[in-house]
Amino acid sequence: MRETLVLNASFEPLSTVTLNRAVVLVLQDKAVVEQAHPELRMRGAAVDIPAPRVIRLCRYVRVPFRRRAPWSRRGVLVRDRHRCAYCGRRATTVDHVVPRSHGGQDTWLNTVASCAEDNHRKADRTPEQAGMPLLREPFEPTPADAMLLSLGGDEFAALPDWLGMDAA
Ligand SMILES: [Zn+2]
Repeated sequence: MRETLVLNASFEPLSTVTLNRAVVLVLQDKAVVEQAHPELRMRGAAVDIPAPRVIRLCRYVRVPFRRRAPWSRRGVLVRDRHRCAYCGRRATTVDHVVPRSHGGQDTWLNTVASCAEDNHRKADRTPEQAGMPLLREPFEPTPADAMLLSLGGDEFAALPDWLGMDAA
């Protein structure tokens, strides 16, 4: 997978993202292309642009310097791509793996996206007590994810499947 370097609005290097994510940021007017691959183009139904090698954010972001994304409910839903950790269907709520009533905290490793039904069914129990195993373990977002989260929106969940890459 090709990576694109992301610069802050102040031109400082921040992170790398996949080529597809870089193109999404450019198409959403959140970044501009500073340097493109000379022989690669990204092509889709309504898109034909040079593949970005370096992009620069239009807005200055500060989160990446903390290296860790601050926890938020929205962040958990975005990290889990709005998929329920118990059944895989669309999730609209955030569940505490170890319930708050058992001392569970608002942390990346203790929270997962959940559909309202499973959240209600699990109630104040651990996955073991409820007999509801997690389909995947919760994880801490990477610095690149933290940067994308700080830009707002769901762009690190919504990768365009319509983009293809061609040699120009
Ligand atoms: Zn569910």
